[in-house]
Amino acid sequence: MKSLYGKFLVLTVGIMLASAIVAFLSVNTYYHRYLKGENDAKNVQVAEQIALFIEANDGMDLPTYFNMLASTGYKLLVKSPAGDATVYGEAFRDDNLEDEAIEKVYSGEVYHGMRDLKAETFVTGYFSNESANTIGVPFIYDGKTYALFLRPDIKMLFTEIHYLLGGMVIVMAIISILAMLVVARKLIAPIVVLTKATKKVGEEQFTSELSIDRRDEIGQLAKSFQQMIDRLSENDQIRKAFVSDVSHDFQSPLLNIKGYADLLSDEELPANERIRYAGIIQSETERLSTLTKQLLLLTSLDQLISPLQKKAFRVDQQVKETVLKFQWLLQEKEMSIMLEIDEVTYEGDPAFLEKVWENLLSNALKYSPDGEAIDIRLTEQANEVCFSIEDTGIGMSFETKNRIFDRFYRADDSRTREVEGTGLGLSIVEQVVRLHDGRVEVVSELGKGTTFIVYLPKL
Ligand code: ADP
Repeated sequence: MKSLYGKFLVLTVGIMLASAIVAFLSVNTYYHRYLKGENDAKNVQVAEQIALFIEANDGMDLPTYFNMLASTGYKLLVKSPAGDATVYGEAFRDDNLEDEAIEKVYSGEVYHGMRDLKAETFVTGYFSNESANTIGVPFIYDGKTYALFLRPDIKMLFTEIHYLLGGMVIVMAIISILAMLVVARKLIAPIVVLTKATKKVGEEQFTSELSIDRRDEIGQLAKSFQQMIDRLSENDQIRKAFVSDVSHDFQSPLLNIKGYADLLSDEELPANERIRYAGIIQSETERLSTLTKQLLLLTSLDQLISPLQKKAFRVDQQVKETVLKFQWLLQEKEMSIMLEIDEVTYEGDPAFLEKVWENLLSNALKYSPDGEAIDIRLTEQANEVCFSIEDTGIGMSFETKNRIFDRFYRADDSRTREVEGTGLGLSIVEQVVRLHDGRVEVVSELGKGTTFIVYLPKL
């Protein structure tokens, strides 16, 4: 059986059959242990009463009396003193009463054929229609000893109530199987829906809306599955947008390089033009190189397992070294830096955190006009380290501020101003800080300046 539905069906019928067998065996054991003896005793009592009645009414019409008894639900076998046998009621299927048993009864003993019938395994032994399966008692009639063997008539044993009970069991079995089939179909229906949805997800179709509205475990599974589809669909869109952004950002410098390289191949090109074109090719190559490095960095930050290699290090020293790296640019733009730095030892990944300071400082420089000043502060508080960098540059609009951490996002004026950039710097900053369980805050006003504040919690 491959389908769940088939398994359900087989299991239900199997359980019913198994329980019927177990019930039959238990009833059987109970019959052999307790009921068989009781039944024997009851019938001995009946037989003895009959014998007593005959003896008390000597001379009565025996065949009429026995026929009357047979009509009340007994089978009788009467052995006359001469050894002739007469059966009253329906004939025995098997006449296997042993002579020894008959002799015993003639001699005054009671024959317990019902109790002592060969250890039949099943309760069906009780119904076995044989003369050995009887109770035997002697009685005296007309001064002679007779032997009377009797047992209840099977047909009489089955009364209407037995047929009713049997019918009830059969109807119950049929109803249970039918109900099980309906319930199984209802239970399995959402699994079929889920299976179809899983197949669609496997084919990268993330559009399906599951129409399963249940509160049980399957409902919860469907809910989690729907959430997973939504997440996958979101990720898929982000991935597609990312790939298109990456290709666009690679494509434009490559086109520039190709175009200027073509122009350079003109031998009659004046020297100053050649120098200009070579300069453009160089800056576009640098841009591509930065882009590749940043993408590699972001990919390593995207790993499921944290790529951080933490160790205790002096953040103040690292910030000072970063400022030194930008010294040439500071001089070129005639800008000054105010440093207010506490001595801070922090346990984090120095290589990644260095990228944070670098990106924030390079942005402050990029987005400030020449001659402005930048304030950098580093302080240690009770449970966090706080780094802030404030510039008096172009600032950001509210919309820009909300999007600066998106990958490849660059404010329109940053693009038009021809400021070098990839739109990945702040994504890297945000992700590194998040991996350190910290947060980045931005205060900015268009035309007035921007302050980035990084909070890093101490372990
Ligand atoms: P980019 O390579 O363009 O600098 P970033 O991710 O570092 O990319 O920054 C995203 C955008 O955020 C920038 O294009 C710019 O518009 C804005 N931005 C970042 N820092 C500043 C700042 N100090 N002042 C004004 N705008 C900024």
